[in-house]
Amino acid sequence: MKNEKIAVFWFRRDLRLTDNAGLYAAAEGDLKILPLFIFDENILDELPEDDARVNFIFNSLKRMHDKLRSNDAGFCIRKGNPLDVLKELSEEFNIATIHTNRDYEPYARKRDKAVADWAKEVGIEFHRYKDQVIFEPQEVLKDDGDPYVVYTPFKNKWMEHFKPADHQAYPEVEASSFVAFEQEFPTKESLNIKPSEIEVPDYDLDVVPNYKDTRNFPAKDGTSRLGPHLRFGTVGIRTLVQDVKDEEETFLSELIWREFFMQILYHFPKVVNNNFREKYDAVPWRNNKEEFKKWCEGNTGYPMVDAGMRELNNTGYMHNRVRMITAGFLCKHLLIDWRWGEAYFAEKLLDYELASNNGNWQWAAGTGCDAAPYFRVFNPTTQIDKFDKQREYIETWVPEYKSDDYPQPMVEHKMARERAIETYKEALN
Ligand code: FAD
Repeated sequence: MKNEKIAVFWFRRDLRLTDNAGLYAAAEGDLKILPLFIFDENILDELPEDDARVNFIFNSLKRMHDKLRSNDAGFCIRKGNPLDVLKELSEEFNIATIHTNRDYEPYARKRDKAVADWAKEVGIEFHRYKDQVIFEPQEVLKDDGDPYVVYTPFKNKWMEHFKPADHQAYPEVEASSFVAFEQEFPTKESLNIKPSEIEVPDYDLDVVPNYKDTRNFPAKDGTSRLGPHLRFGTVGIRTLVQDVKDEEETFLSELIWREFFMQILYHFPKVVNNNFREKYDAVPWRNNKEEFKKWCEGNTGYPMVDAGMRELNNTGYMHNRVRMITAGFLCKHLLIDWRWGEAYFAEKLLDYELASNNGNWQWAAGTGCDAAPYFRVFNPTTQIDKFDKQREYIETWVPEYKSDDYPQPMVEHKMARERAIETYKEALN
């Protein structure tokens, strides 16, 4: 093994053999490819052993591995600190090149910089590719070169640049492009992964033609459920936009929101821990732990909020409309710091994505770029008539909502609304 010069393709959030930009580029080269996945201890140690997302990663890797076995190839799976793993691997194999797709999150950028520095030092080529987005953060900028901080002009510029023919899906990379690799695929036990009760559902693009009419109603299966597939790359973004480009623009707009928040995180990494708008630092959050617990458990006495939280706790998913209602309720009605809610969603959501979660939470709290104005406070009761008129969604998740077992609202809406507006107003003065 040590004699044959090879290329490594390092999979991260791109768990597929088709429409994978970096993998395709690697296969165009002369060297056989060793497919590598590293279970990053820095990330894994923070998660429960039965995390559904880690199970999803494992299963996706196993599926690819089984496909590659047809040609005696297979995955190299390691666990550890990525740079240490790559160093070890360079002792075992004669690695000429490492290919990988770019990741724009602050942690990933730091990690990849360290790998790039090491690779340079030891004479290994390190190539990175655009894969998970149509446009990278540097590609959609204002005319003066500054990043956009408002969605609509960002979207307009994005659409102006977007020529579908330039974004064709890459063909599948055949098993014959990979190094023959005999090692057994690891068991879940050996990686300390326990099975999860929650599974990631398949995505469904049949919803797209009617998306505009169905997307706001949580009782309908009206959205695509693409979230986790985009997050872990079990579908390529080019494949998707080719599928939906001729449909009505609403769905594409959602994919553009995703790239909008990615470029916000890239250009303004401080948002990870800080308000995008600094003047909101003065908002005196009440941060009542008992109240937070009621919100987490779905026992606020507001059926729409409780239905959302229970859906999240039971399935790892919450409908977007309800995410907006539950998030708004936490920040405005309870005056609890958006970072608490963001962290709770991060723990539970199968489609958890730092850029989108942070961006949407800051939107709901009013602290973000292009955020909902602070004085807009959703009424969690009238939202039911608008979006769950037949009470189907509520009855699914809060079947006892009409009975005596159901708690009274934990806070009175009118009082909470006025308190929120007053608190924000004072802080911003
Ligand atoms: P669809 O409605 O079918 O949309 C298709 C895709 O477009 C989504 O999968 C997603 O990639 C993208 N998208 C849609 N809406 C948004 C949006 N508002 N912002 C960014 N991308 C969007 N989305 C995440 O992917 N990860 C998160 O961690 C996340 N946290 C959120 C937290 C809050 C408080 C709120 C209000 C929204 C959050 N969203 C997040 C956005 C949105 O709710 C989900 O993307 C969507 O509900 C996922 O379901 P779907 O795949 O069926 O979406």
